Amino acid sequence: MDCLFCKIANGEIPSNKAYEDEDVIAFYDLNPQAPTHILLIPKKHIGSARDIDASSSKVVAHIFEVIAKLATELRLEDGFRVVTNCGESAGQSVQHLHFHLLSGRAFSWPPG
Ligand code: AMP
Repeated sequence: MDCLFCKIANGEIPSNKAYEDEDVIAFYDLNPQAPTHILLIPKKHIGSARDIDASSSKVVAHIFEVIAKLATELRLEDGFRVVTNCGESAGQSVQHLHFHLLSGRAFSWPPG
């Protein structure tokens, strides 16, 4: 499968890593939308949030543990936002489940 984030997960395409373990990789977004902008992905391919099921929910929970760990390590004390875009109208451009961890500026609500 020709998937950009699978290639990042297996090291075929280099990334600036913030965290990695057996199941998850976190790397800095190439086009940051905030002073801290990290993407967290499962190494195993999942298309989007729409495809999460009982077989994959464990890795999603694990991603949120990693987010909490990074927030502590990177001292994101003022707060942070976690976003996953699912589908075209939501702005998903890479068809491999990913969570944006954004911090270092104020975020509006509701999002645009
Ligand atoms: P989304 O639009 O929610 O699908 O997010 C995809 C994100 O991937 C965007 O924020 C891009 O800037 C980012 N991105 C695309 N290619 C790379 C790459 N090679 N390394 C890091 N981030 C990337």
